[in-house]
Order: sequence, then structure tokens, then C-alpha cells
Amino acid sequence: MSKRVLVIGGGPAGHEAASHAARYGAEVTVVERDVLGGSAHLRDCVPSKSMIATGGAMSFARRVAGMGLAEVEPEIDSAMLRDRIATIEKRLESAISRLLASQGVRVLDGTGVLTGPHSAVATLADGTSVELEADYIVLSTGSRPRVPDWAHLDGDRILSTRDAYPPKTFPSHLVVVGSGVTGVEFVHMFSSLGADVTLIVSRQQVLPDKDPEAAAVLEADFMRRGVQLFKGARATAIERSGDEVTVICSDGRVAKGSHALLAIGSVPNSDNLGLETAGVQLNEWGYVDVDHNLVSSVPHIYAAGDISGRLPLSSVASIQGRKIAEHLMGLHAGRDHRHIDYDKAASAIFTEPEIADVGLAEAEAFADGRKIRVTKVPFSSNAKALINDDPRGFVKIISDPHTGVVLGGSIVGRHAAELISVVALAVNSHLKVQDIQDCLFVYPTLSESLIEAAE
Ligand SMILES: Cc1cc2nc3c(=O)[nH]c(=O)nc-3n(C[C@H](O)[C@H](O)[C@H](O)COP(=O)(O)OP(=O)(O)OC[C@H]3O[C@@H](n4cnc5c(N)ncnc54)[C@H](O)[C@@H]3O)c2cc1C
Repeated sequence: MSKRVLVIGGGPAGHEAASHAARYGAEVTVVERDVLGGSAHLRDCVPSKSMIATGGAMSFARRVAGMGLAEVEPEIDSAMLRDRIATIEKRLESAISRLLASQGVRVLDGTGVLTGPHSAVATLADGTSVELEADYIVLSTGSRPRVPDWAHLDGDRILSTRDAYPPKTFPSHLVVVGSGVTGVEFVHMFSSLGADVTLIVSRQQVLPDKDPEAAAVLEADFMRRGVQLFKGARATAIERSGDEVTVICSDGRVAKGSHALLAIGSVPNSDNLGLETAGVQLNEWGYVDVDHNLVSSVPHIYAAGDISGRLPLSSVASIQGRKIAEHLMGLHAGRDHRHIDYDKAASAIFTEPEIADVGLAEAEAFADGRKIRVTKVPFSSNAKALINDDPRGFVKIISDPHTGVVLGGSIVGRHAAELISVVALAVNSHLKVQDIQDCLFVYPTLSESLIEAAE
């Protein structure tokens, strides 16, 4: 008899787990309350990157003089922008839906709650409910924006990231609270689209966890665009009066704007899931406690994606889903199986210039007293960067000085999020700088700077 697998939540973690388990022969049911593709497609990655792409088109239009063209001033059409984002999400959703249907996965449009270690109930959109039994359960319900008790979101002018694609009224001046990855992406997005922006930065540097050289390039770009930075400031209240919002900081500074947006992290969707009835334990932050195979405190219940409390990235959620399918189908015992190495996950910040990194960071190596070789090449001498009229940024490769094995890298510049894949492949496959040097890349491309940095 096939193994019965129940997946609650159909985001990247859930639909990958479902699809792979079905491919390996399981009988799979997915319960999803919104859309297949999850918040990643509906509310987070896809809409934010779609808005950033539109902002990119606007800033490019403003910069065409550098390409030998007359300047134009495009205008935002919020309705068209909303349609564009909805169309992208629908296309992605229907691709997942077709794939799961072709694999015989049963998809229930409803909310799933565990009723015991092997059972759950799905309350469907029409109010009816379905009792479900399973041999294995995958919890992949994701996370939602964190809202502190001092912030009263109104979905109109005091916004979470999920109210911003685009907001009901377009901000003339946006105050962004939070200068991590999400915060700086929203600064970039709205300033490219023409809004004035103030950023509340709790430390002395934006992106406090990233390479300071990369953060400095981004800060320089923000200054060039006229973004106001409130450094060392901690927001403690947001007030609205008519069409004006005021963000008040603990040191008395105030930032006024037409809108405020909070980007201060997320909390897991682990409440109201019936986890206690199944004996699933949470850690102190509310994430499901999992081991390296993503198994919870109950051996047949797994957690993947943001709810697992590991690296909150869509790419990580997907691979976790696949690894769970392999594990529950008993395929992990094979010699080719590898555990996920979160330290080798590539990540990117979709600002302008983009910032991407993978593996060991320079600061981390110095803090550990580890000997490394760092080579850095600016894009200013790269032919394609000059042809693109965008020579900002650099490629940095970190390698072992004795063996030449590539340990990490960071790239700042146009298409950095794509270019980092080469370094990620090197880091994950233990390639040496020599392997990159000996590659024959296309000329003229930005990738050539990788070869130069590997020399
Ligand atoms: C603004 C923003 C931008 C981001 N951009 C990127 C990016 O560019 N690249 C990247 O890699 N990551 C990005 N991320 C992170 C990424 O969105 C998450 O890591 C990813 O969505 C996690 O996938 P998941 O499957 O765990 O959860 P989700 O995508 O959140 O999916 C979970 C699903 O579970 C469903 N669900 C929840 N509870 C129930 C229930 N009880 N019953 C049924 N269904 C339920 C939800 O409706 C949802 O569809 C971004 C995050 C944010 C906030």
C-alpha cells in the first residue's frame, strides 16, 4: 500500500514536498487556504520582485541619456501594476496546479488543522469539512510579517510589506522601518518608483549582517537618490493624522511621511494548527523544533520552509520540501543523499545595484581567525558593464590560500543575483579558483569579472 502523505500549506516547501513524494509513489493530499505557490508567490517574493522590476524600468527610463537617448518620464499606473502582478502569480499558480494534477496529488482548498498525530481536518472554502488520515504529515504553513504592539497597521497608510503591491494610494513620502534585506528592498522599490523615502536604521549601517563594503555601495546609492537615513534610531510609535504619518524614535527623532511601512521580520504560522494535539514541540520563538532531516519531535511529522526556523528563503523552502519527500520515502539512505548545508545557500538583495553572496564571508573568517585569500575586482574595468552604462560594484572571491578551494564570494552590481550562481556552484562542489579561471565564458559579459577575481 502507498504511503499516505498530508501536506498543510502549498507554498514552495509544501508543493515541492507534495510533488516529490507523489513522484516517488506516495498518495498525497495538500491543504492550502490561499493559492498554490504560497505567500512566496502571492504576497512576498514574486510581488516584491515584480514591483522592483517595474521600478527598475522606471529608473532605466530616467537614465537613458547615458545610452545616447532622449530622457522620458514614465508614470505609474497602479491598476496596471496590480494586474501585472496578479497575472504573474496566476501563471505560476496554474503551472504548479497542472504539475500536481498530473501527478495525482489531491489538492483541497481550505484550512488544515491537526486533530491527532495521524489525523487532521480541512475546513473548505464552502464551509464544509473533510477528515483526513495520514502516515506522514508535512507542516509547511510559512510565516507572516511581525507587527509589534506599538504599530497599528491600517492597510492604508500604515502598512506591512503585504499591503504594498502597490498600496491603495501611492506614497509621496514613505518612511520604512527596518533596514534588513526586506527593508532596503522596499526603499529601493519605492524610491525607483518616484517616492521620497526615509529609512529608520537601528544600527550604524544598513544591512548590518552583510559585507560592510557591499552595504557601503548600497548606502552611496541611497544617498545619491536622496533617501534620508535615520541611523542608530529605534522606532517606538507610529501616529497618523489625516494623510500624514509620523514615526517616532526612542531618541526623540521623528520622521514624517505620507505612508509608513514596517519591515522588521516575521513570525511563524504555527498557531491554530492543532500542533499540541499531535505532540509537536515548538522552540521559544514559535518555530517547529526539527532535526537535520526536518523531523519534528514526532517522528512522522516534518516541518519545512519558514515554519522550520531555518534560513527563511523560498529557495531553501523548496529544497527542504524535496529532502523531506526523499526522507519519508526512505530514499535518504542512498550514498548520493546530502543534507542541506545552510551555510552554502546563495542569497541576494534585489536593490540597485544588486547584492548577492554565498558561503564564507570575509568578516566571519577574520572573526574566526581563519586564513583566507580575498580577491576583489571592480566592474569599472569590465567591458559589458561599461556597455550597460552601469560600472558600479565588484566581484569578491574568498578562497583557501593553500588549496585554492572556493569558500565564498560576494557580488555587488547589475545581475549579481544571477552571477552568484557560478560562485555557489563552486562553493557547493568544492571547486578551486583554477576551475573558474580555466572556464571559457562569453565575451563581453559581466561573468568575465569572475574569471578575473579567480586569478
Ligand atoms: C517581502 C518579502 C520578499 C521575499 N523575497 C524573497 C526572495 O526574493 N527570494 C527568496 O528566496 N525568499 C524571499 N522571501 C522569503 C520567502 O517568501 C519565504 O521564505 C517563503 O515564502 C517560505 O516558503 P514556505 O513554503 O515556508 O511558506 P509560504 O510561501 O508562506 O507558504 C505557506 C502557505 O501555507 C498556507 N497556510 C498557512 N496555514 C495554513 C493552514 N492552516 N491550512 C492551509 N494552508 C495554510 C498559506 O496560505 C501559504 O500559502 C521574501 C519574504 C518577504 C517577506
